[in-house]
Amino acid sequence: MLAAYAVHAEQSRGRRFPEPPHPYRNDFQRDRDRVIHARAFRRLEDKTQVFTRRYSDHFRNRLTHTIEVAQITRTVAGALNLNVDLAEALALVHDLGHPPFGHAGEKALDAAMREHGLFFDHNLHALRIVEDFEQRYAAFRGLNLTFEVREGIIKHSRDYDAAEHPALAGYLLDKRPPLEAQLIDLTDEIGYNTADLDDGYEAHLLALEQIRDGVPVFERFFREVEQTYPEAADKLKFNESLKMVFNRLADDLITNTQARLKQEGIETLCEVRSHKERLAAFSPEVEAERKQIKNFLYENLYYSLALAEEKNDAERIVSELFRFWMNSPRALPHYYREKAAQESLPRVVCDYIAGMTDHFIIDQYEKHCGRPTD
Ligand code: MG
Repeated sequence: MLAAYAVHAEQSRGRRFPEPPHPYRNDFQRDRDRVIHARAFRRLEDKTQVFTRRYSDHFRNRLTHTIEVAQITRTVAGALNLNVDLAEALALVHDLGHPPFGHAGEKALDAAMREHGLFFDHNLHALRIVEDFEQRYAAFRGLNLTFEVREGIIKHSRDYDAAEHPALAGYLLDKRPPLEAQLIDLTDEIGYNTADLDDGYEAHLLALEQIRDGVPVFERFFREVEQTYPEAADKLKFNESLKMVFNRLADDLITNTQARLKQEGIETLCEVRSHKERLAAFSPEVEAERKQIKNFLYENLYYSLALAEEKNDAERIVSELFRFWMNSPRALPHYYREKAAQESLPRVVCDYIAGMTDHFIIDQYEKHCGRPTD
C-alpha cells in the first residue's frame, strides 16, 4: 500500500519521448532496468569507492556499494510505504556520475575544470550520462528516463540554485524532491559509513580499540556484544556491533521520518514538495552519532597517511591527462573530437575522463604520459 505522500507511477510526469506502457513493468521498474543495463552502470565495477584492489578483492567498489545502498533503500522505502521501484532506481543510479579514483579523482577533475572557469559535479554528470552518452535505443539519445528519476539524480543529495543553473529550470528547483529521492543521501551514508568501518578494519588501517575509542555508538553496542558473546573472536564481535550500528541508523531514519511527516501534518506528495525543508532525516541524537562516525572516518581513514600516496597518484593522473588532452585534442577518440566541435574542449575532456574506470585511466596515463604509475 503506497502512502499518499509517495510518488505513484501512474502520476509520473513521464518521459521526454513518450513510449507505450509496458505490459507488466511500471515506468519506474523500467527505469531501474534501464539503469542496470547501462554501460556506465557496468563501469562502476572498476571505480574506486575508498580502497583500490591493491588492498583486497573483497572490499567495496562503486558497484557493490551501489547494490548495498539499493538494498537499504528498498527496506527503508518499503517501511515508509514509499514507491520502492522509484527509490530503488534512484539508489542504483546515485553514483553513476562518479569519475575514477573516488573522491581524489573527483577533486582533481573539478580543480582542472576550475582553471577554465568551469566545474565538475557528479550529479550533473550523471544526468549527462543518462540523457546523452548512453546510446542504446534507435528512437532517442540517452535512456529516456522518467522525470522523477532525472529529478532525483540531480536533487538527491543537494539543492541547486535556479539562477546559477538555468539549464535545470525544468526540474522544480524551488521545490523539495519526493521522499524517495530525499532518502538516497541518507541510505548512502548508512551504506558507506558502516562499510568503510568494515573495510578499514579488515585492511588493518583501523584497529578495534581505535574504533571503540572514536565511535561512541559502536562502543556502546560492542559492550553489549561482549556480554552476549564473551568467547567470540574479535572480528565476530566487531561484525555484531557494526550490524547493530547499521540497524540503529536504518531504524531511526524510518521512525524519525514517519514522526516528522506526522508532526508536520504531511499527507500528500504536493505537501512534501512544498515543505520548507527536506523531511527524510535522522533524529538529532542519531544525526550526532552519524557525524561522529563520519568525522572518525575522515580523520582516521580517508585522510590517513596509508591512503595518501594513492590519492596523490590519482590526482596526478587525472590532472596530467586532462592537461594532455587539452594540449592535444587530436589524440581524443573520434566521438569526443566530434563533440568538441559543439561544446567547449574542457567539458569534453572532463566528460571523457569522468566516464573512465580506474583500470582504463591508468592505461591511458601510461600510454600518453609515458610513465608507469607504480
Ligand atoms: Mg554513494
